[in-house]
Amino acid sequence: MKTFGTHPPSSGTAIKRGLVGRCPNCGQGKLYRRYLDPVETCDVCGEQLGGRYQVGLLLPLIVITVVGHILVFGLLELSRHEVNPLMSLIILVPVTLIASLLLLPPVKGLLIGLLWSRDLSDEQR
Ligand SMILES: [Zn+2]
Repeated sequence: MKTFGTHPPSSGTAIKRGLVGRCPNCGQGKLYRRYLDPVETCDVCGEQLGGRYQVGLLLPLIVITVVGHILVFGLLELSRHEVNPLMSLIILVPVTLIASLLLLPPVKGLLIGLLWSRDLSDEQR
């Protein structure tokens, strides 16, 4: 259930708060207990978050799309500079892994913020 202070934050504000790992309602409490594990309720405003907003396969789809573009750009740049294919692999595999792991929390927060702002919890669907 959404709990607001004086007025609800806009969708853009809720999405930005989720993107930086903050509660979409108040922007003060932490969104995650651990890596990709949302808190049950916000410590500051008491908003229910954990398990209510399931992002499903949209999360890996977005991350794979973004990382895929980074990977293709990297491959093109390395081939343009005629880098050894083995060296390209040594460079691009860690970049791919690190970029994926770094992108997952903010993208999941963005999606939770979007679902929260549209009131699309699992109970609503
Ligand atoms: Zn909060």
